[in-house]
Amino acid sequence: MGAAHEAFEMFRTMAPRQRSDILRRSYDLMIERLDDLALLMTLEMGKPVVESKAEITYAANFFRWYGEEAVRIDGRYSVNESGAGRMLTMRQPVGPCLFITPWNFPMAMGTRKIGPAIATGCTCVVKPAKQTPLSMLMLGEILEQAGCPAGVVNILTASSSGQIMEPLIRDRRLRKLSFTGSTEVGRRLIEQGAEQILRVSMELGGNAPFLIFEDADLDAAVDGAMIAKMRNGGEACVAANRFYVHESVASEFADRLAARMGQLKVGRGTDPDVNVGPLIDEAQRSKVAELVDDARNRGATIAVGGERVDGPGYFYAPTVVTDVPDDAAFLKEEIFGPVAPVRSFSSEQDVIRWANDTEYGLVAYVYTQDINRAFGVIEQLDTGMIGLNQRLVSHAGAPFGGVKASGYGREGGHEGLHEYLQTKYIALNIP
Ligand code: NAP
Repeated sequence: MGAAHEAFEMFRTMAPRQRSDILRRSYDLMIERLDDLALLMTLEMGKPVVESKAEITYAANFFRWYGEEAVRIDGRYSVNESGAGRMLTMRQPVGPCLFITPWNFPMAMGTRKIGPAIATGCTCVVKPAKQTPLSMLMLGEILEQAGCPAGVVNILTASSSGQIMEPLIRDRRLRKLSFTGSTEVGRRLIEQGAEQILRVSMELGGNAPFLIFEDADLDAAVDGAMIAKMRNGGEACVAANRFYVHESVASEFADRLAARMGQLKVGRGTDPDVNVGPLIDEAQRSKVAELVDDARNRGATIAVGGERVDGPGYFYAPTVVTDVPDDAAFLKEEIFGPVAPVRSFSSEQDVIRWANDTEYGLVAYVYTQDINRAFGVIEQLDTGMIGLNQRLVSHAGAPFGGVKASGYGREGGHEGLHEYLQTKYIALNIP
């Protein structure tokens, strides 16, 4: 924290164009070294190399996008309502930040915090997950090569995060905490930050509903379901967790999804034919297996998968579960694995109620070709993001984030920049 605090005085006054250039050079280096970075990420956390490449490209885009914004941070000048005075507002960097990131997207969850921090002139300490320190350390090397001054981005690896992080969160020199991870840990960190009224952003868990209406383009819905469910092997906060399909197309959808899921090849992420890598560890695989067993024991049908796969890793078969009862645990809990529960619905009001019946509110997917229905449904869904006939919602220029227990604050886009700026208002005595 000392290094980030000291570097802040220098970095906040660095020319915006220089900060922009650091980000742009970092983007270029990430793209140049895409193959090496992707191999490292796959060896570290298991996802297929093609997915690692997609993540690194997505991650690098935050540096490019925020590099373009670094030179556009502005303020406001206006006449006050009486006409007898002027109001000036300026936006300044919040100060030294602490970033805590998860293992599932080891680079992108870092760059979407580091990018806007550098763009605004903030410094930071970054703590990656214990399973994926190397990807973040590589990112640190790239930032250094791109000319990022010492002390601006400080990477701290740890295997006992609670003990190491709490004193940092309580450090009076810290001005902002941005966390991506589980709701349970997020809750604890909010409490720790409350003592010094720390500015906090929380990107927490999800339980995304995926709604398919009778007028949907079913080919697009099946394609969309495959990506929204299976990207990152299902280990994503935006992964579709529950499929609600109109009764007139539910069995056709489930059959087609099961056929596609059954064709996926499970194995080591370095094998070019593999579509689905291992889960991160045995604890995660056991949790996924328990959720599927819970549904099976309550009378659900396993259309495909539903079992561990032997091999050199924590593999679990891509799974589709139908005839899902109301009380199946995975309708309420984040699965974080390659399992797709499919339920049918008959009424729009029921499905909206079911979709909202969760503590989470990160993203929902809606498939319909009726624009009036689409907006009627979207306005009633309690989530921070919606994919309308769209299977991926994440973009560097979009405000990513949730409501309810999925957290608060946004990453990406202009909203993501404002998380690192504070407004100062100056009252001018100018008649
Ligand atoms: P996690 O256990 O909450 O860990 C996330 C990070 O917090 C890791 O760096 C971890 O370090 C650290 N951590 C754990 N306990 C801590 C403590 N007491 N004090 C300070 N830091 C602590 O989450 P996870 O299981 O790794 O990640 C999966 C979760 O992240 C899912 O719920 C997923 O939905 C969520 N996620 C959300 C988003 C989003 O943008 N909304 C994006 C990706 C993932 P260690 O590794 O050392 O334990």
